Amino acid sequence: MEKRDYYEVLGVPRGATKEEIKKAYRKQALKYHPDKNPGDKKAEEAFKEAAAAYEVLSNDEKRARYDRFGHEGMSGAGNGFGGQGMTVEDIFSSFGDIFGDAFGGFGGFGGSRRSGRRVNKGSNLRVKVKLSLHEIANGAEKKIKVSKYDTCNTCGGTGAADQNSMTTCSTCHGSGHVTRITNTLLGQMQTSSICPTCGGEGKIITKKCPVCYGEGIVQKDDIIKINIPAGVSRGMQMSVSGKGNAARRGGLNGDLLVVIDEEEHPELMREGNDLIFNLFISIPDAILGTHVEVPTVDNNVKIKIEPGTQPGKILRLRGKGLPEVNGYGRGDLLVNVNVWIPKNLSKEEMKMFEKLKDTDSFKPRPDKDDKGFFERMKGYFQQ
Ligand SMILES: [Zn+2]
Ligand SMILES: [Zn+2]
Repeated sequence: MEKRDYYEVLGVPRGATKEEIKKAYRKQALKYHPDKNPGDKKAEEAFKEAAAAYEVLSNDEKRARYDRFGHEGMSGAGNGFGGQGMTVEDIFSSFGDIFGDAFGGFGGFGGSRRSGRRVNKGSNLRVKVKLSLHEIANGAEKKIKVSKYDTCNTCGGTGAADQNSMTTCSTCHGSGHVTRITNTLLGQMQTSSICPTCGGEGKIITKKCPVCYGEGIVQKDDIIKINIPAGVSRGMQMSVSGKGNAARRGGLNGDLLVVIDEEEHPELMREGNDLIFNLFISIPDAILGTHVEVPTVDNNVKIKIEPGTQPGKILRLRGKGLPEVNGYGRGDLLVNVNVWIPKNLSKEEMKMFEKLKDTDSFKPRPDKDDKGFFERMKGYFQQ
């Protein structure tokens, strides 16, 4: 078939503006719209022809090429609308917005037109998993017992007692939807809706499975293995696709949503990916220096306390915190050094301190080196 001139198709002069072209196309599209002309092949062709013309003339580059070379210039130009392979759906998905309000009330052509039988989807299942800091640091494989809907083994999820007790729906002939012609302001319209007889499934069960009573699913206890990556934190949610409740009559499974919770660690406090340990050392150790062991999530590590360490000093052990959940980097272990002040001393011990009391070395003086002090105070006030 000889291709008509695109300007002629839209009924616009060669010098038409973009707005004029859009308007002209909209007029044609509404006139020849398949929903207004059900079963009219000629209208469908005209509808496609107008779309092909609009596709070229609405694009500056393609329009310039068409003006110079005509239809010849358009072949091999990578445009999907050769006019041949184009479907009505392609036009809707490309130019759907041009119809605007005129067809807006339909809920989209593409949707109702293309969707076939309705597919059931099972509901999501939500479980909470409590992890220790050790598990969070290293990642964990958890086995969780859940009670959920699973496919009925007796009927294989169909809900029918046997193969002979399921027939194709006579209302929709298995398609799951029914079409209806209605009269509107724009003329006759064809609308599609879910088949009321079969509820969109396309099939009717004449004799139900005795185990699941036609639902295709039964409640079962299941043990689900979940791999939890390192670095997760309280409140995070992981989704395990397809491990939720099974759907009625062989649809898609829902997802399993795993919500992370944390166990309290007896000694370590978590702050983001950093861990905090509150260390107490004795007065002599603070004065003389020592080596002490501090816990991490995996084991104890030995650290050095320098002679003359002040209480409130924070020692940062790089990389001894928790890993980032994305796998890059690791937090630190912050050791807050406290000096233990004894409360009940023997007379002899008291005497020793009496002696030290007035010595010059024991006189308190501000520690100009403790730059972290203001930072720590800020932390308190922010809480
Ligand atoms: Zn069953
Ligand atoms: Zn039906």
